[in-house]
Amino acid sequence: MKSGSSKIKAFFQKYRFRRVATIVAGAAALRLILWFVLYRLASRDRALTYKIYTSCVFPVITQPMKSVAKLFPFSVGETLVIIMAALFVAGLVICTVRAVRNKKSARGIAPAPKKPAGFARLLVMLLVAALLIGGNFFVYGGINYKSLTFKELSGLDVKNTDIDTLEKLCLYLGKKATEARQGLPLDEKGFVVDSRSAQEILSASPAGYAKAAEKFSCLSGRFTPPKAALFSEIMSYEQIAGIFPIVFTESIVNKNAPAYDLPSVACHELAHQLGFAQEDEANFIGYLAAICSDDPLYVYSGYYSGFCYAMNKLYSFDRDRWVAVWQSPEIDAEGISNDMRRSNEIWDSYRKKAEVVSKVSEAVNDSYLKSNDISDGTHSYGRVVDLLIAYYSEQLPEVSSVSGSTQG
Ligand SMILES: [Zn+2]
Repeated sequence: MKSGSSKIKAFFQKYRFRRVATIVAGAAALRLILWFVLYRLASRDRALTYKIYTSCVFPVITQPMKSVAKLFPFSVGETLVIIMAALFVAGLVICTVRAVRNKKSARGIAPAPKKPAGFARLLVMLLVAALLIGGNFFVYGGINYKSLTFKELSGLDVKNTDIDTLEKLCLYLGKKATEARQGLPLDEKGFVVDSRSAQEILSASPAGYAKAAEKFSCLSGRFTPPKAALFSEIMSYEQIAGIFPIVFTESIVNKNAPAYDLPSVACHELAHQLGFAQEDEANFIGYLAAICSDDPLYVYSGYYSGFCYAMNKLYSFDRDRWVAVWQSPEIDAEGISNDMRRSNEIWDSYRKKAEVVSKVSEAVNDSYLKSNDISDGTHSYGRVVDLLIAYYSEQLPEVSSVSGSTQG
C-alpha cells in the first residue's frame, strides 16, 4: 500500500507537463469555441440574450473579479499584465541560458545538461494564455455587443434631426455647462481644477447612477469605481482616455486627463460595467450619471462633454451657427473654450511625440468596434448627440435660436 506522499509523487509523475498542458489547453480551447458559438448565436434573439446573459449571467460572473479589484487601490488588471510579462521574460531568459549551456555541452566544453531548453513549454504556456484571454472576451462581456441596446431598453425616440435642433442642443448644453462651471475652483490660468487626486475623483463615479436609474431602471447595478491607470503615459500616447478591458472586468482611466474630463470618462466606463457595449450609449449613460451626481465637478464634466460632442457635430455641418453659439451671451465662451484648449493641448502633445502609435491605436480600436458589428467604428462615439437630442426632445423647442433661424 502506497503512502500519501508517494501517491502524490506518483500522480505528478503520471501527469507530466505534456499531459497537463494538453488538458488545460484543450479545456481552454473548448471554452473559447463554445462561447464563440454563443457569441455568434446571440444576435439571432437579442431580447433573449439580454434576458439570460446581460441581465442575469453577466452581473454574476463579473462580480468576483470586480470584488477582487475593489480590494486594491491600484489596477489589478494592469498588475497582472506586468506579472505575466515579467514571467514571460524570466522564462525566455531561463530557456536561453539552458540552450547556451546545452550547446556548450554538445561541444564538450561544459558538463552534460540536466534539463532541455524548454522553448516548447514556453510556447505552450503562451498558447494557453492566449486561449484563456480570448475566451474571457466572450465570457465576460463580448456577448453584450449582441444584446439589446440602451436605445431599445430606454424607449428614447432616436431619429433623424435637423440643424436647428442641433444648434438648440448646443445652446442648451452650453448654458448648462456655464452654470455648472460657476463656483468651481480655477487655477491661475483660468482652467477648472480640483484639489482631489485623480483616484479620489474617479472613486466618486458610481454616485450619480442611483439618480440616473430613477429615470431609466436599466441603469441600476453594482459598480467598482475605475482605477487611475498605472499605464497612463502609454494610454496617452495611444490617445486612450479610459478602457474597460473585457478580459479582466476592471475599468481603468487615464489620469493624465484634466480633472474636468475624468468624471465623464469614469461614468462612461461604468456604463460598460452594466453591460452596455455601444460607445455612443456609454457616452450618453456616462453623461447622464455625471449630471445626476451631487458632485459639482461631475455635473460640469457631464455638461461639458455633451457640449463638446454637440459643438463638434455642429461645426461639421454649419460653421456660422457654430460661431453664433459661441457668441451667445448665456455661454461662458472664454472659460469653456479654455478648458477645451487645455484638454486638446494635452492630447496633442502626446500625439505629436508618437504619431504612429496614436494612429495604430485608433486603427486597432476602429477595427475592434467594426468586428463587433459597429459599422462606423470609432465614429460611433459621436452618435451620442442623437441620444442627447432624443433625451431633450421636450426642452429643445423652448430654446431660442441665436443664428436667426425662425423654426420654433
Ligand atoms: Zn467605451
